[in-house]
Amino acid sequence: MSHPKSSVVADGLVVSIHYTLTDDDGDVVDSSEGQEPLAYLHGHSNIVPGLEQALLGKQVGDRLKAVVAPADGYGEFDPAGEERVPRDAFPEDIELEPGMQFTATGPDGAVSPVWIAGLEGDEVLVDMNHPLAGQTLHFDVEVVAIRTATPEELDHGHPHGADGDDDEH
Ligand code: ZN
Repeated sequence: MSHPKSSVVADGLVVSIHYTLTDDDGDVVDSSEGQEPLAYLHGHSNIVPGLEQALLGKQVGDRLKAVVAPADGYGEFDPAGEERVPRDAFPEDIELEPGMQFTATGPDGAVSPVWIAGLEGDEVLVDMNHPLAGQTLHFDVEVVAIRTATPEELDHGHPHGADGDDDEH
């Protein structure tokens, strides 16, 4: 069995990165610091398009800064994206908190993610906008590892754990 060279980031490879994401004010929004690096399958929309583009062709050990516009990040903010939903539209046994993510099925059957923006009495304010929609993303990234994806990972469109486990999907 021959393994293709996986020395540069390309489609179909599992790439591990350490990253820090800051907003326009320089506040840290998210970071892998102190945790395992983030592993993603390149070319399968596991990460925002702007960051994926910036990583293409990079090598292990490369550090890069990527400034990603909303359109290449979590989308433009849509003011019409907020909606009030009765509390009983959600599972009873889950304690709802702002920031929680759910999946909503639209009238056309399309499935889309929604986030809880707030709780008001027996109503829930949901937002179709990702919490980072409309924001320019500033990524500071280091490529930690690149490896060939397994056929199962390619089939699923996401990486599995180091031991090949798939406990997420
Ligand atoms: Zn999987």
